Amino acid sequence: MANFFLDNEDILFLFDHIDLKELARIQEEDTDNGEADYVPVDEEDAVDNYRRVLEIVGQIAAETIAPHAEPIDREGNTLNPDGTVTLHPLVRENLRRMAQADLMGFTLPRRYGGLNCPILIYTMATEIVSRADGSFMNLFGLQGIADTINAFASQEIKDEVLPRFARGEVTGAMVLTEPDAGSDLQAVRLRAYQDEDGNWYLNGVKRFITNGCGEILLTLARSEPDIADGRGLSLFISERSEKIRVRHLEHKLGIHGSPTCELVYDDAPARLIGERQRGLVTYVWALMNGARVGIAAQSLGIAEAAYRLARTYAHTRQQFGGSGCRRWPRWSPT
Ligand SMILES: Cc1cc2nc3c(=O)[nH]c(=O)nc-3n(C[C@H](O)[C@H](O)[C@H](O)COP(=O)(O)OP(=O)(O)OC[C@H]3O[C@@H](n4cnc5c(N)ncnc54)[C@H](O)[C@@H]3O)c2cc1C
Repeated sequence: MANFFLDNEDILFLFDHIDLKELARIQEEDTDNGEADYVPVDEEDAVDNYRRVLEIVGQIAAETIAPHAEPIDREGNTLNPDGTVTLHPLVRENLRRMAQADLMGFTLPRRYGGLNCPILIYTMATEIVSRADGSFMNLFGLQGIADTINAFASQEIKDEVLPRFARGEVTGAMVLTEPDAGSDLQAVRLRAYQDEDGNWYLNGVKRFITNGCGEILLTLARSEPDIADGRGLSLFISERSEKIRVRHLEHKLGIHGSPTCELVYDDAPARLIGERQRGLVTYVWALMNGARVGIAAQSLGIAEAAYRLARTYAHTRQQFGGSGCRRWPRWSPT
C-alpha cells in the first residue's frame, strides 16, 4: 500500500531524530484536555500516537488525495447563482476521508475532539498532504482558523464551534484582504458596527479569500471608524449565511481545487473575537505566523512531488535505445 509518510526518508529521519518525547511532554502539560476519553499514558505513548496519525495521513494522501488531484484541478469548483459555492465532489470526498480519520482537529485539545498534536507533527502532515495535492492542502491547512479561535475566543464560542471543526462538519476561512488592502492590512475598510443591543454586523467587500465559501469566517474589520490605522481593527467570527455572498471565484493558473473567493457582506451578523482593536496587531499576526509555517511545508510537499515525478521520468524515458538514466560512456581523450 502506498504511503507518503512511510516512503519519505527525510520526514522519517526528522521524526526519529527530533526529541519528540520532550515535545510531547510540553504539549500535554500545556493543554487543558478536560475529561477526554483518551490521553497518552506517557511521552512514549504520545510519540507512538503521532507516528500512527502520520501513517494514516500518509495512506490517505497516497491512496485518496493524490489520485483525485488531476481531475479536481481540471474541473475546479462551481459558483452558484445564489452566491454559494459547490466544491468539486472529489474535494468533498477528500474532506470526508480526513474527517472520518479524525484529522480535521489535528492540533485542537482533546476536550473539543481534537488530536492535540504539536504544530511540528501537523506541519509534517501538511507537507505530506501537499505532496498529494497542493490545492487540497489549502483546505486541510486552514485548521489554523480553529487554532486562532482556541487561542483567543471566548469559552462560549470555543465550546460551540471547535467540536464542529474537529468532527469535520465545518471548514474555515481567514478573511483579511480587500481590493485596496493586501500587504497593507492597516488600510482594511470593511465596516463593523453595533446595534443598540450591542450586536455586531459587518458590511463591505473582501477579495482573494481561500475557502471564503467555508462555514466559519474570521473577518478583520474596522470597528473604530475614527482610528485609521491597524489599531482601529477587530476580529470577528461569522457563520455562513445569505448575508455573506460569494460574488466571484478567481480564475487562477493552478490550485483550482482551492476556491479563492470575493465576498460581499451585507449587514452580516458577527461576534467579536477577544478584545476590540486587537484584531490585526495580536490575533491576525498570530494566525499569520502559523500560516507562514504551513506555506513553507506546502512548498516542500510540492517540491517533493515535482522531484519524484522528474526522477521517475528520467529513469523510464527511452532515449538512444535505453533508459534516459543510463550513464554516458566515460569520455576518454585517448
Ligand atoms: C491564491 C491566493 C489565495 C489567497 N488567500 C487569502 C486568504 O485566504 N485570506 C486573505 O485574507 N487573503 C488571501 N490572499 C490575498 C493575499 O494575502 C494578498 O494577495 C497579499 O496580501 C498581497 O496583497 P495584494 O494582492 O493586494 O498585493 P499588493 O499589496 O498590492 O502588493 C503587490 C506587490 O507590491 C509589493 N509591495 C507591497 N507593499 C510593498 C512595500 N511597502 N514595499 C515594497 N513592495 C511592496 C508586494 O510584495 C507585491 O509584490 C490570497 C491571495 C492569493 C493569490
